[in-house]
Amino acid sequence: MSGTLYLVATPIGNLGDFSPRAVETLQSVDFIAAEDTRVTVKLLNHFGIKKPLISYFEHNRVQSGEKIVERLKNGENVALVSDAGMPAISDPGEDLVRLCARENIQVLTIPGPCAAVSALAVSGQSTQRFTFEGFICTAGKNRAAHLESLKNEKRTMIIYEAPHKLMATLTDLKETLGGDRELSLCREITKIHEEVIRTTINGALELYSSIPPKGEYVLVVKGREEAEEPEMTLEQALSRVDFYRNEGKSLKQAAKLASEDTGYSKNELYNAALEKDRQT
Ligand code: SAM
Repeated sequence: MSGTLYLVATPIGNLGDFSPRAVETLQSVDFIAAEDTRVTVKLLNHFGIKKPLISYFEHNRVQSGEKIVERLKNGENVALVSDAGMPAISDPGEDLVRLCARENIQVLTIPGPCAAVSALAVSGQSTQRFTFEGFICTAGKNRAAHLESLKNEKRTMIIYEAPHKLMATLTDLKETLGGDRELSLCREITKIHEEVIRTTINGALELYSSIPPKGEYVLVVKGREEAEEPEMTLEQALSRVDFYRNEGKSLKQAAKLASEDTGYSKNELYNAALEKDRQT
C-alpha cells in the first residue's frame, strides 16, 4: 500500500506559528522533501526534529519528484516543506501533488501560514472575492499579457513581489490600473518590522522614491470599481415627460411623475418641456 504525501506549512517569519500537528507530522514521516535543506535544517533543529532530508526544488523537481513518488509507492510517508508558508503556493509542490494524484497516492495538508491569505485578511480590502496572481510574470511579453489581464479585474488582487522588483511592478501597475488605485502593502508579516501600508499606487511610488523597499511584500490591490450607471440626459428625462403626457396627464403632472423617475427637478423638466413645445 502506498504511503502519504503531507504538505506541511511552515512559518513565514515567526516560529511560534509552527503548529503542534506540523511538528508531529515531521516527526512521524520517513523523510522530508525540502525546497532548501539548509533552511529546513534550522527549523528542524529549533523543534528538535531529526529526519532524513532530500531536496525538492524548482530545478530538480522532475527527477526528485519521480524518486519521491517511487518511495511513496513503496509505502514510505513523506512531508513536503518549502522555505516558508504553504508548499505548492508560489512554491515547489504543485507538480508533485499532481504526480501523486495521477498515481492515486494520498495527499494530505497540514495547513498553516500563507502570506497571501494573511495579507488579504489584514489588508482592509474587500475579501469577498479575490484573485491570487502570485508573482507578476517577469518575461516581457508574458508580463504585458499578465498585466493586461488585470485591467478590468473587479476582484481584489493578491500579488507577491520581491523588494528589488517592487518599484518596477508598481510602475507597471500604475500604467495598467492608474495611479489612484488603492492598494495595501503588507510587509514582513509576523516579523518584527511587520506593517500594513494602506495607500494608492501613486502613494507607494512616492514613498519608495526616497527609501528603498525592504523585506518581503504582498500587494493587495483593490479591484476595479463597477462603472457607475451613466446619468440620464435631459433629453431622456423629457421623453419620460412625453410618455406621461401621452397618457393624458397635464404637463405639470407629467413633469412631477418624470421627476420622480429620473431625479431631475420637476421645475427643470416643466420649463424644458415648455421650451421644447415652443420650438416645435
Ligand atoms: N508559499 C509561500 C506562502 O504560502 O506564503 C509563498 C512563497 S513565495 C516564493 C515568497 C513570497 O511570499 C515573497 O516574495 C513575498 O511576496 C511573500 N511572503 C512570504 N513571507 C512573507 C512575509 N512574512 N511577509 C510578506 N510577504 C511574504
